[in-house]
Amino acid sequence: MTSILTAGVSPELVSYLEHRLEGIEIKAVQHGREALAALAQGGWQLLVIDHYLTDPPALELLAETRKLPEGSCLPVIYCLEEGAPSELQTMLVRKLGVEQLCFHPLDPEELARQAGERLHRALCFKPHEQDPGQDQTLAAVAKLWPRFKSTILGRVEVVEQALSALLEGDLRDELREKAEREAHKLAGSVGSFGFNEASRLAHEIERSIHAGSTLEPEQALYLSETAAALRRELESRPAKQSTEQRLPTSDSRPFLLVVDGDEGLARQLVEEAASRELRAEAVSELSTAREVLGRCRPDVVLLDLSLPQDVGDSLHLLEELAVRDPAVPTLVFTECNSLIDRVEVAERGGRGFLQKPLPPSEVLDAVMQLLDRESALESKVMVVDDDPLVLATLKALLEPKRIHVTTLDEPLRFWETFERTSPNLLILDVDMPHLNGIELCKVVRNDPRWFGIPILFLTMRRDAETVRRVFAAGAEDFVNKPVVGPELLTRINNRLEHARLYRTFVETDPLTGVANRRKSHTMMNQLIRLAARMHRPFSFAMLDLDKFKQINDTHGHPVGDQVLRKLGNVLLRTFRGEYVVARWGGEEFSVGMFGVGQQDAARRMEGMLDAFRKEEFTTPGGVVFHVTFSAGVAQYPGDGVELQSLYRAADKALYQAKKAGRNRVQLTEKSSQDIPVHEYA
Ligand code: GH3
Ligand code: MG
Ligand code: MG
Repeated sequence: MTSILTAGVSPELVSYLEHRLEGIEIKAVQHGREALAALAQGGWQLLVIDHYLTDPPALELLAETRKLPEGSCLPVIYCLEEGAPSELQTMLVRKLGVEQLCFHPLDPEELARQAGERLHRALCFKPHEQDPGQDQTLAAVAKLWPRFKSTILGRVEVVEQALSALLEGDLRDELREKAEREAHKLAGSVGSFGFNEASRLAHEIERSIHAGSTLEPEQALYLSETAAALRRELESRPAKQSTEQRLPTSDSRPFLLVVDGDEGLARQLVEEAASRELRAEAVSELSTAREVLGRCRPDVVLLDLSLPQDVGDSLHLLEELAVRDPAVPTLVFTECNSLIDRVEVAERGGRGFLQKPLPPSEVLDAVMQLLDRESALESKVMVVDDDPLVLATLKALLEPKRIHVTTLDEPLRFWETFERTSPNLLILDVDMPHLNGIELCKVVRNDPRWFGIPILFLTMRRDAETVRRVFAAGAEDFVNKPVVGPELLTRINNRLEHARLYRTFVETDPLTGVANRRKSHTMMNQLIRLAARMHRPFSFAMLDLDKFKQINDTHGHPVGDQVLRKLGNVLLRTFRGEYVVARWGGEEFSVGMFGVGQQDAARRMEGMLDAFRKEEFTTPGGVVFHVTFSAGVAQYPGDGVELQSLYRAADKALYQAKKAGRNRVQLTEKSSQDIPVHEYA
C-alpha cells in the first residue's frame, strides 16, 4: 500500500489529496510528536510537512526524520510562507533534502500534482466526486475503444516481437527503437479507456526496453511476462463502459429543459423546439427539474417562476444554475408577478426575462438567440499529437463540453492549421517525429501575434528536466498522460478563463470599454482581408471630439473623462457586434464597418452624431453642456487597400470637417464629389 504522512496539514487539504490520489492511504497528524511516532514505524512513501507544525517544530521533525533508517531518503514536500527567507529555503533543499517547496496560500491542485509526481501516480477523482457530465465523458471515450482496439493490439505485437528477439539474443536497434516508441504510445493512451494497469505495464516496458541487449536474461524474461500481462489486460475486458447503459442515446442537438406548470403550453414549446432542431423535455415541478438536472446538463433552461411551489424555490434554482460550472444559461418565462422583478432575475443570474403570454415561436426565438450568444463563447482548442488515439480521445472528451477541437497528427503541417483555425488554446505533445512540442511551443511564443495564447503540454514524461524545459519554452501547464478526463477539463477550463480575462485586459481601453488601438489594428485588418476575399465594401471612420481641450480646461479633466466614456458607450450601443469600435488615442475613435459602403457609413455616423449631440452632460457644479464630434469616412478599396491608407484618407476628411466648422461627417474627396457634405449646424 502506498502511504503518505501529512504533518500539520489542514484537514480540508488532506481530504482534497484523498480525492485526487486514488488508492493511496493518507495519515494526517497535527503534532510533531505524533509524526515522529508514525515515522518510526516506517512504511511511508511521502512526507508532507507544514512549517507551522509544533511540538517539535517542523524543522526539528525533519532533522529527526533524516536520522531514521527509512527516513533518510524519504521524499518530502514542505509547505511554508511565501516570501520565507531564501536562506531557509536553501537549507530545506540543500541540507534537509526537501524535494519540493510549496507556498501558502496552498493550491490544493498543485499540491496533489506534486504528491502524484513523487508517487508516480496520475491524479483522478473518486467516483462520488464525478460531476454529472463525467459519466458521459467516460462513455464517450469508451465508445472509441472498438475503433482503436486493433491498432492498440498491433502496438502490443511490435513490443512482443522485440521481446522475443531479445530473448533469442537478436534484438536489432531498429526494432528496439520501434518497440520503445510503441510502448510509449501504449502507456500514453490506454489509460484513457480505463486500462490503468495496462498503462502502467506499458510504461514499465518502455523504460526497460531502452537498455536492449544489455538486459540480463532474467530481466528479458520478466519483460516478456509483463508484455503478456499487458495483452491479457487489453483483451480480457471491454473498455470501461459501466455507465453507458444509463445514458440517453447520443444526440448532439442542443438540449432545452422547459420547467413550466402549464402543461399545454409546455407541450407546445417542446413541439416548437423540435421544429428548430432542438431536443426538449418539459417538466412541471421543481423536484422533477432537479432530477433531470442531476442527470445531465441542458444547454438552456426555460424557467417559469409561477410554479405552484414557493417563488423563492424557483429563484433558488435559478441561482443554482447560474453558479454551476459551467453555468446553465436560464431564461425566465413567467406571468406578471409583483414579487419578482426583472432586476431580481438578472441579479440571480437569469439570462433573460420573457413575459407571459408570448407565442411559442417568439419564446423559441429568444432561446435560439441565447444559444447563439453562448456558442459565440465556445472555445477553440487545437491539439497536436502524433498518436491518433490520443487525438480521438481528446476530441471525445472535449466536444461534449462545447469545446471545438482541431486535431493534427503531423507537426510539420502545424502553421497552416494553426493560422487557419486560430485556436484559443494549444495542447502539445512533447515527443513527436521531426518537430517536438517544445520546439513548437518556442516558435509560437516568439510570434507576437500568438504571444498570449495558453499552451498546455500533454506527456508521458514526468522527469524534472522535461518539466523544466516545457515551462522554459513558455508553456503554462503540464498534464500527464494517460489523459484523465476531469483533470484535463479542469485544466483546460482554467486556462481558457485566464486567457479570456487576459484578452479583455490587454485588448480593451479601460476608460471607455471599447477596443484599444492595438486590438483594433488586428480586427480592422481582418475585416479588410475579409472584404477583399468576399468582394464586399468596408468603410473606415475616424471621429474626433470637437474643442475637447476647451471642455477639459473649462470643466476639468474628470468631466472630460465622463464625455469620453459616454462617447464610447454610445458608439458601442450603436455599432454593437457588427463593427469594430476602437479608441484610436486621446479623444479620437475609429469605427470599421464591414459590408457597408461609404455613403451608408456616413449616414450611420450622422445618425450617431445626431444622438450624441443631444446627450446632456452635467458638471459637479450643475452646469449643463453638450458636445459634438467631427468624422471622416473612407472606403476600401477606393481610398486604399491597406489600413494605413484608409486611415490617412479618413483623417484628411476629418481635417476638412474641422476646417468647415466641426460638428459634421465628411466623406473623402474621391466620393464626396457626387455627394454633398453632410452638415449639421
Ligand atoms: P478640435 O475640435 O480641433 O479637435 O480641438 P480639440 O481641443 O478637441 O483638440 P486638441 O487635439 O487640441 O485637444 C485634444 C485634447 O484631448 C487634449 C487632451 O488633454 C485631451 N485628452 C486626451 N486624452 C484625454 C483623456 O484621456 N482624458 C481627458 N479628460 N482628456 C484627454
Ligand atoms: Mg484630436
Ligand atoms: Mg478634438
